[in-house]
Amino acid sequence: LFVEHELEKDAQVTIEGPQAHYLGRVMRVKEGDTVILCDNVTGEWAMQVAQVTKHSVHGLVTGQLRPREEVPDFWLCPALLKKDRFGTVLEKATELGVAAIMPVVTRRCVADKLNPDRARTIVVEAAEQCARTALPDVGPVAKLDALLRDWPENRILFFADEEGGEPAADAFCYAEGPAALLVGPEGGFDDAEREAIRAHPNARPISLGPRILRGETAAIAGIAVWMAEAGD
Ligand code: SAM
Repeated sequence: LFVEHELEKDAQVTIEGPQAHYLGRVMRVKEGDTVILCDNVTGEWAMQVAQVTKHSVHGLVTGQLRPREEVPDFWLCPALLKKDRFGTVLEKATELGVAAIMPVVTRRCVADKLNPDRARTIVVEAAEQCARTALPDVGPVAKLDALLRDWPENRILFFADEEGGEPAADAFCYAEGPAALLVGPEGGFDDAEREAIRAHPNARPISLGPRILRGETAAIAGIAVWMAEAGD
């Protein structure tokens, strides 16, 4: 379970709310059981359960299991998609190991906002399921022009372009340094957006094959190719 506060040996921990309900009612933990906690700062710790009440679980941190892992310094910049599809992007990007997810809104986006609490819940649950000890950062939704204007100069911006680009595997395996993948919405980028992206000095158009993929498919496939070619 990911907890909000930093953990250390011999710390007393009290878990309340939905997480306490999950531990007590679903997992049926009892006194003496060990629960694995993550604080997204120091890493993964073992907590020995001391008391389970109707609304809370109390325990003592007995030792660190794993330090916070390093994940590849790869960002996903997905254009907002319709609700469930964007939830899939958040979940699979977390499982696949991205360091950050920077949602983008473009002119053809059907959705124009993201519920940050829902996004965090999806990311935390995905991280717990795949045993990540570091949560990906989920940034605020940025307009495409602002994302391009403020883009960090040392980071390559691979642009998933169904109209053509270097084969992703080739582009990724020779990439040096931090990188990101920009993926468009259901309706794609319009001509002015595509021109602005291609004009950016850090932008590198990449192809994920001859077929037109859904945004969530392109995001998942693009990250998987990156992790295979350049992830560590
Ligand atoms: N232009 C598409 C069409 O005609 O249906 C609409 C966009 S597509 C559904 C969603 C996004 O996935 C695109 O903006 C692009 O970023 C990415 N994408 C889809 N197929 C791709 C491919 N073969 N190679 C690279 N990116 C692709």
